Amino acid sequence: MIIITQPKATEEQIARIVRRVREFGLDAQISRGATRVIIGVIGPEALLREKPIATMAGVEAIVPVSKAYKLAARDSRGASTVLVGSVPVGGEEDVVLISGPCSVESREQILSIARIVKKSGAKILRGGAFKPRTSPYSFQGLREDGLRFLAEARAESGLPVITEIMDARDLSVIEKYADCLQVGTRNMQNFSLLKEVGRSRLPVLLKRGFSATINDLIMSAEYILSEGNMNVILCERGIRTFETAARYTLDLSAVPLLKAKTHLPVIVDPTHAIGLREFVPQMSLAALAAGADALMIEVHDSPDLAKSDGDQALLPTIFDELVPRLRAVAAAIGRNL
Ligand code: PEP
Ligand code: MN
Repeated sequence: MIIITQPKATEEQIARIVRRVREFGLDAQISRGATRVIIGVIGPEALLREKPIATMAGVEAIVPVSKAYKLAARDSRGASTVLVGSVPVGGEEDVVLISGPCSVESREQILSIARIVKKSGAKILRGGAFKPRTSPYSFQGLREDGLRFLAEARAESGLPVITEIMDARDLSVIEKYADCLQVGTRNMQNFSLLKEVGRSRLPVLLKRGFSATINDLIMSAEYILSEGNMNVILCERGIRTFETAARYTLDLSAVPLLKAKTHLPVIVDPTHAIGLREFVPQMSLAALAAGADALMIEVHDSPDLAKSDGDQALLPTIFDELVPRLRAVAAAIGRNL
């Protein structure tokens, strides 16, 4: 059993809950997030009668241990909405476009692309300042300068910012500038990083590992949730299969499956999945039809000069033409974009 405390629970209330658990002869493991505390109850839970705990001051919810993932499970609560800045991701109605370049390359580049994608209808800006590259000789990102440029682009455009974290040591600097942390495909099972972002006040966009099963992805989300950060968004971004014609294979079945198994918002990144700009529009339309709560699409105004992922970035005109088609699909399934 897991006890989730209210964000405003006092230290005294938490101590009283822990004492009550121990009175029943059980142990309590405490995880502290930025806004709330999660108390894991260890021992034969039958000893604990749920009622006297559920009504204690400071308790928000009690989640029985019925699945390997307790906090992510659909039955632990209804569909969640996660706020990125002031933009809600998830829920029944609205779908959100997240867009921007793969990497922040310069101040001018990110300011210009932010203007472009905002004009077309994007609600959140993406851009990497710490880049996970296959080769150590490839562009690694502008680091803190990149974060500063992203924050400047947010100030000008009003778009909240998502950026990748690769190393827990960078958390405090990223927290200074960003609205949402992205954990990339290569770090989906970096459990110490997951625990660190689980203690952040920022929401986390968790991308599926390209060799990870759906269950692996949910268990990684559980690491973040179990540290007290309830704001996790799942992202399908393509998996490695025997097929080599596309960069990865977009597993759209993950969307309805994740939504049935968890209460977390589920989004799709068609760009990294197919890896070829020519086919990004088709995969974006399909992802929306499958029920994605948001799409993350890379856009670049001069992709031939891009320092990363130029082959898959949409040109601004193509992105702009795609948005009304996405709106039509959203409307056809009773959602708004
Ligand atoms: C990215 O979003 O730029 C990225 C590197 O994604 P992924 O981790 O899915 O490859
Ligand atoms: Mn990229």
